[in-house]
Amino acid sequence: MDTRWCCKICKLGPIARLIDENYDGGCLSFIGQRQYESHARSISKKVWKNPWVGNQVGASPIQEWTALHIWLYLFRTKAPYNPAYEKGYDRMGCWLCPSSSLADFLQLKESHPELANKLNSHLLDYAERMGLSPEWVKYGLWRYKRYPRVLQELAEKKEFP
Ligand code: SF4
Repeated sequence: MDTRWCCKICKLGPIARLIDENYDGGCLSFIGQRQYESHARSISKKVWKNPWVGNQVGASPIQEWTALHIWLYLFRTKAPYNPAYEKGYDRMGCWLCPSSSLADFLQLKESHPELANKLNSHLLDYAERMGLSPEWVKYGLWRYKRYPRVLQELAEKKEFP
């Protein structure tokens, strides 16, 4: 999650290419991004330019909305929404995203056990090949290149890499 390289390679790059091929002079995109979603988004402006998508101006009309505003709006207008929200998720993203919380991965175990097992066995295989302990998977350390201080302390205390 330190670098989120896949966002650039798998999402932003293809979006920039698609805009290039279809919209001469770039475009304005409305994006459902909100300040309460993360620290980075809390300091984001309402209108911005992502350096990885130079041909797009992004604008979020719901930057200051809370989750309650969103749900009241959806219910009032009877707008469709992703059914995965009914499985307990509060945000949608890639199901194996390293930026997900451990709670999200627990949720994945309940809602999509086949995906959770697939990811887990991949990670355990990788850990074994790299000489890492199973705790590296269990405590979600695989999500970091550099551990945050609290996880670094836990890793040292428990003596796993
Ligand atoms: S897995 Fe996470 S970081 Fe990677 S593309 Fe998906 S949302 Fe972005």
